Amino acid sequence: MIREWAANPRSYRPGEFLDARVTIGDRIVSVHLAPVFMGEEFVGTVSVFRDITAEVEAERSRVEFISMVSHELRTPITPILGYADLLLMGAAGEQTPVERDFLTAIKRNADRLTLLVSDLLDLSRIESGRLEFSLQETHVDEIVGNVLAGFQATARERRLLLRSEAEASLPPVMADPNRVVQILSNLVANACQYTLPGGEVVVCARVEGGEMHITVRDTGIGIPPEIQGKVFDRFFRADHPLVQSVPGTGLGLAIVKSLVEMHRGRVWVESEPGTGSTFTFTLPILPVDQMALRQRGPRAGRKRLEARAQTVPPTHPKPAAPARMGQESR
Ligand code: ADP
Repeated sequence: MIREWAANPRSYRPGEFLDARVTIGDRIVSVHLAPVFMGEEFVGTVSVFRDITAEVEAERSRVEFISMVSHELRTPITPILGYADLLLMGAAGEQTPVERDFLTAIKRNADRLTLLVSDLLDLSRIESGRLEFSLQETHVDEIVGNVLAGFQATARERRLLLRSEAEASLPPVMADPNRVVQILSNLVANACQYTLPGGEVVVCARVEGGEMHITVRDTGIGIPPEIQGKVFDRFFRADHPLVQSVPGTGLGLAIVKSLVEMHRGRVWVESEPGTGSTFTFTLPILPVDQMALRQRGPRAGRKRLEARAQTVPPTHPKPAAPARMGQESR
């Protein structure tokens, strides 16, 4: 980049700078570097070095702490859920209606804790770079079909019309298919959750501006303009009575945003309160030279093209809406 600035000063765009992190001995240093021009002539660079060791260590401790707490919490939740299920099945004899009510509340809240712990684990894996992530040729049409099939029962239960408007013969994208399923499932779960019976949820996929645009549109409660910028923040949940009446962690969209950005994509929302919301995310289309691979063999011959940090088992997608809906805490 510096060579480019020196050789071709006109290539410099105002505000552009180099941002790097270097390790010097046991210190971590952040470097910001910008070119200095005199008229059209490149005369050198100005650099700012900042020791960020303490910040990096504090951040690492925070991520490790969340990861440790989530793991520790998961262990006792499993037997709580298991025993609650056994008791509800009558393994220790019939219960009175009151006992059954209490047991149902225990199970419902243990389910909520499982959801929270699973979302926290996902976030901590993303933040620590330990998330299994494998980019490969991925067919969005198949994923849309599978995710929608998985949510049809929920949609029927909620009296929602759930359908696809994915375009025919879409090109493959470069993505991790498990993560695309996770992103889309989160968005469809939200759309079903925040749309009143009789409404509609539509998933579209189309190519636009050289990228794949995947959209989840609903006719639900919508999101007021003043909080649209906050819905991707961690733990944010709207004040709306429907949102408050269903369990949720406020972490789903933060995870969606991180996963989309790991694919070098973008995600945004357009919404009108009382009319509905449209969430869109983009994915890069498979480069043309890689398409040849696809033409050479059937889909079964998909090639893994790139892989990053693969040290942990896959994270759990946000549970399908049935597990989240119709539940309220006591
Ligand atoms: P959760 O669903 O667990 O609350 P999310 O991070 O998935 O957390 O969503 C954050 C908030 O964004 C929700 O609590 C809700 O207020 C709002 N939201 C998300 N999706 C929709 C939607 N399709 N329609 C209306 N509001 C939504």
